[in-house]
Amino acid sequence: LTVLALESSADDSCCSIITSSRQILANVVIKQHLLNAQYGGIHPLRAQEAHAAGVPLAIAQALSEARMKLEDVDAIAYTRGPGMYGCLSVAAGSAKALATSAGKPVYGIHHMQAHALTPLLTELEPPEFPFLVLLVSGGHTQLVLAKGLNEFRIVANTLDNSVGDAFDKAARLLNLPASSTHNPGALLEQQASLPSLPPFDTEPLPPFPIPLSPSSSASKQHKRQHGGPVFSFAGLLTHTGRVVESLRKEGVREEAIWREVGRRFQVAAVGHLVQQIRGVLKTKVERVKGLVVSGGVASNLYLRHQLQAMSDALPPGRKVKLYYPPLELCTGIDNAAMIAWTAIVRIQAGARPEEYGLPIRPKWSLEDLYDDLPDR
Ligand code: ATP
Ligand code: FE
Repeated sequence: LTVLALESSADDSCCSIITSSRQILANVVIKQHLLNAQYGGIHPLRAQEAHAAGVPLAIAQALSEARMKLEDVDAIAYTRGPGMYGCLSVAAGSAKALATSAGKPVYGIHHMQAHALTPLLTELEPPEFPFLVLLVSGGHTQLVLAKGLNEFRIVANTLDNSVGDAFDKAARLLNLPASSTHNPGALLEQQASLPSLPPFDTEPLPPFPIPLSPSSSASKQHKRQHGGPVFSFAGLLTHTGRVVESLRKEGVREEAIWREVGRRFQVAAVGHLVQQIRGVLKTKVERVKGLVVSGGVASNLYLRHQLQAMSDALPPGRKVKLYYPPLELCTGIDNAAMIAWTAIVRIQAGARPEEYGLPIRPKWSLEDLYDDLPDR
């Protein structure tokens, strides 16, 4: 079984061709970093325009890399949601055009389900259900319990910003120079890993408060209101902005601020993620043996290190094995490989092809996957 998939839910135009024997025949990603830098984030209309050019280019490149023609693939898949309306519509329309013209079945895939199932594509020994998934990307910060291929329960969600968005915004508060090779989150990580410059080499900044620390009054209030564990990054961003502003007023030079504030921000943001997950692993969920970490922020090495340390410190029966998609499939880029793979898994489980008229779903919960399809 060979599937060609398209993905354009946010700012990457992607096309992949994957086989059911887990061969990645092509995986093309066309990025929009420079466009984002120009507009200070994803501009919905400009991003859609860029996809209109990028998606066809990605298809042509993928077919040529795989040395295939459209007739050679068995099915077409695309990201049906969640994501930005205009952006999603480009891959959806293109996928259906390809499918109708070549007489192929078409499958719309949930982007976050695809993130969650990526280790089933990439791991020699994939985790067994049930496992936990930490989705940390530009649009999402969710801890999810994967009970089966199509069965997910959201354990914790963010109340405000996603962690990827928080990294992006922190990078913007710092005015980190845009790069054509690194996304803002990766730039911030880079700065945070460099040694302190004066005046911080002798007098480091105090640590930033970790959001929703268990003993804080904010945490207790959230517990009362929401019941379950949550993530929150808005307060940390406000704090970061204030610190940057006051350091600039004091005349501290920019490079020194980038490193010191970058590090303090990263420690608090990652500390918060790890703290909430530790709480869940200790008490909340049924026993799981695996924690899959997926999405652009999963490429952050400090996060990886802290998650490992957390798991190592858990009681014997509670430890988890950590799974990360290979760097080239999660370095802050989305990819269509995971979309194609999820389509393959669904087809093998008996999913029927979609009607061409099925609408995209910009807002779409992982808890009601394919509830509008006859073969759910
Ligand atoms: P979604 O998948 O929710 O639709 P998205 O496609 O924008 O969102 P991804 O491409 O998975 O998200 O991830 C991009 C995000 O990951 C960006 O916010 C980026 O700043 C962040 N990111 C990438 N690399 C790193 C890193 N090394 N450290 C921290 N954040 C990072
Ligand atoms: Fe994504």
